[in-house]
Amino acid sequence: MKILVPVKRVVDYNVKIRVKADQTGVETANVKMSMNPFDEIAVEEAVRLKEKGLAGEIVAVSAGVAAAAETIRTALAMGADRGILIETEVELQPLAVAKLLKAVVARESPGLVIMGKQAIDDDMNATGQMLAALLGWPQGTFASKVALADGRVTVTREVDGGLETVELALPAVVTADLRLNEPRYASLPNIMKARKKPIETLTPAALGVDVTPRLAVLKVEEPPKRKAGAKVASVAELVAKLRTEAKVI
Ligand code: AMP
Repeated sequence: MKILVPVKRVVDYNVKIRVKADQTGVETANVKMSMNPFDEIAVEEAVRLKEKGLAGEIVAVSAGVAAAAETIRTALAMGADRGILIETEVELQPLAVAKLLKAVVARESPGLVIMGKQAIDDDMNATGQMLAALLGWPQGTFASKVALADGRVTVTREVDGGLETVELALPAVVTADLRLNEPRYASLPNIMKARKKPIETLTPAALGVDVTPRLAVLKVEEPPKRKAGAKVASVAELVAKLRTEAKVI
């Protein structure tokens, strides 16, 4: 069974995000970019399924600027077999990405799509759900455990207040949560090997998908700065401040 793993190039999680001076978005020029952390978890899960003999080929796909090929290379170094880059300069929104992935699914016929639950740049948490809906496939989102057997995938989901277990018929879409696994680091020999693995480059037009943005970003702002706290000497002083200054009691 083939597994498709969508991977997004995002601002590295260690970088302190800065809002652009003109408030149109966040600064990405001269900023370290990496694979979205939840997508690393998705790649790791696909590689583990392959290592257990439950999956055949792993195809990593990324949509975005030409540099997204680096993100695909990282997936290849972790163990994916080949890559597909859908190259575009257009800023992609979840529905556009979901449509592109649907077109890739039509070409590749994977039995499973494993992707991140959300991209840490704009925190949409929408693409996996939209892809499942467009394909008419079952979805298991926020997965903390994935088990494949007999043409079905059992997904343990992290939901508010506990865990929910769902069983889906394949083909299906699964989105990875933080506790699913700990992704491996790519070893140097594997990074070298990944250089020889193929990456096919496509365009949205070649896939017949219109990626024109449908949402307009009006303004991006920094969160308000938190004011410094104050220490009180006694409970009596705390109560007095809550009554007279904060006016909450
Ligand atoms: P989002 O809905 O934007 O929070 O993203 C959820 C997941 O969709 C990510 O973790 C990726 O697996 C996938 N995804 C989003 N954007 C892209 C992209 N441009 N290329 C490949 N995969 C993407």
